[in-house]
Amino acid sequence: MKQTTKEKRIEHRLQPGVLTLSGFMGTDKRYWQEIVAADEAKLEELGITAEEIADRMQYFTDQSWDLFDRELELEGKFSVETEVVRGKLPCPFSHAGIYRKAFTILTRIDTGESLRWSSLNLHLIRDHHFFEGIGSPFRLNPEDLVRILF
Ligand SMILES: [Zn+2]
Repeated sequence: MKQTTKEKRIEHRLQPGVLTLSGFMGTDKRYWQEIVAADEAKLEELGITAEEIADRMQYFTDQSWDLFDRELELEGKFSVETEVVRGKLPCPFSHAGIYRKAFTILTRIDTGESLRWSSLNLHLIRDHHFFEGIGSPFRLNPEDLVRILF
C-alpha cells in the first residue's frame, strides 16, 4: 500500500512505545487503513454504525463517571464502573484533542460477559472507526460490542 506522509505518521504513532506502551496494533500485520475498512465492512454486515456503538458506550461511561469507582446497575442487566485515572492520551490520528484517561468496565449480569474501554477507545471508534489491531489489549470487536452493549 502506498501511504502518504500523513498516513505514515499515523502508522508510527500506533506502534508500541510511541503514545502508549503497548501501542494500538497488537499482532496485526495489516495497515491501519485495512483494519478500519475490515471493521467498517463488519459494521455494515451487523447493520449498525460506529456512531451508534460510540453513543451507547458514551452513555455507560457518562452514567458511571462520577461514582468514584462504585459499580452501578443499569437496565436490570448491566453492571458498570468507570475508573478515572491520572494522565491524558493524545489521539494517534493527529487530532488536536487530548483525552482524559478513564476506563469503563461493563459487565452483563445475565451472561457474565464484559467489555473494557478507555475514553480514547470511544473517540477512536466514533471519529476514526478504529477498533484497534487484533491482539491489541484494547481491541474491541464490533461483534462483541453489538452482542454485549445492547
Ligand atoms: Zn482523533
